[in-house]
Amino acid sequence: MGRLRVLIPFLLFLTQCATSPLDRRQVVLYSDAEMARQGEQAYSQMQSEMPTTPNSSESVYVQCVADYIIEALAEPMRSSLAWEVTVFDNEQANAFALPGGKIGVYNGLLDVAFNQHQLAAVMAHEVGHVLANHSNERASQSTLRNVGLTAARVLGASDVTIEAIDYGTQLGLFLPFNRTQESEADGIGIILMAEAGFDPEQSIALWENMAAQGGSRPPEFLSTHPSPESRMADLRARLPEARAARAAALDRGMVPDCVPGVINQ
Ligand SMILES: [Zn+2]
Repeated sequence: MGRLRVLIPFLLFLTQCATSPLDRRQVVLYSDAEMARQGEQAYSQMQSEMPTTPNSSESVYVQCVADYIIEALAEPMRSSLAWEVTVFDNEQANAFALPGGKIGVYNGLLDVAFNQHQLAAVMAHEVGHVLANHSNERASQSTLRNVGLTAARVLGASDVTIEAIDYGTQLGLFLPFNRTQESEADGIGIILMAEAGFDPEQSIALWENMAAQGGSRPPEFLSTHPSPESRMADLRARLPEARAARAAALDRGMVPDCVPGVINQ
């Protein structure tokens, strides 16, 4: 017990107080560089283990949507991360974005996201998780939860910290996001897609398609979210702000022209 009393204040000291883009206070233990390194590592592993789409027009289409979203990002996020998109050959309607700016889209998503605006809604939601540091928060929470157990097993406090941090980081990237994080990613995503020139109303149509599709293994972006009704109500509440953001984007010349199945270049 003596060691725990020393260790826990030490961990809290290491913990940075941060705020999400929507002004929610967060507990984050890890540096951005460490999270980016973990994200890149997990991404390379997925690229080596999962087939990518054999259809180059799918890659061109998804890349086109991603380019508009990335272009709309505020600095330093736009230039400081090595944004990258991979289309995996997988029938699930799913997508993800990892710390470090690594985006994955399963081509099964293209059967549910019917146009560029709907695809942008999903991708901007995923990028929203990255902008709001959700993986760091999630990893930090599992570290803090596990530290008591680990402390009982290990002798030195520095060893405890290292083991707990490794464990938490590994777990963190692959745990589902919680409801607060899902709502936050929705809120960031609808504004981001609109700032990129996509039609924010289509985000609601997309989630309707997703809800109708259902299935026994829901994709990342449905897994822990409140009911589709409450998600859509939240999105509708943000529509006026999102419409204004889109109008401004169109005025600036951000007019996305990504067409499924067509190679534009
Ligand atoms: Zn999500």
